[in-house]
Amino acid sequence: MEDCIFCKIISGEIPSELVYKDEQVVAFNDINPVAPVHILVVPRVHIPTLNDMEEEHKELLGHVAWVMKKLAREHNIHESGYRIVTNCGPDAGQVVFHLHFHLLGGRSFGYGRPADDS
Ligand code: 5GP
Ligand code: ZN
Repeated sequence: MEDCIFCKIISGEIPSELVYKDEQVVAFNDINPVAPVHILVVPRVHIPTLNDMEEEHKELLGHVAWVMKKLAREHNIHESGYRIVTNCGPDAGQVVFHLHFHLLGGRSFGYGRPADDS
């Protein structure tokens, strides 16, 4: 997807602070963090939103969960706790239409708008 900013990060065309990569997934620090740990975990394949998930992606998204669990431990938020967010569509405020998961930790969260509250 030539106009997708996350596809460009995945290809290396746009720089990022990469924290993890494998053949299915990349993870990098959010450019505008809302928590001490704010990592975006992104499947390499361009899936615009969770609405576009197909049955063939079930294993991939299980892998995403596995990577997030490992990253939470690596960043030492596995015991203090963390929040995982995916924004889907306008009401959620989705900005980048390449499926991604926010891994947020290092502070406590309320029950407002998860990626925005402070
Ligand atoms: P969402 O689509 O989940 O609402 O938000 C997209 C997220 O991607 C935002 O938290 C924003 O800060 C982050 N973001 C947008 N552009 C870039 C970028 O070029 N680099 C990085 N590292 N993060 C970005
Ligand atoms: Zn993309």
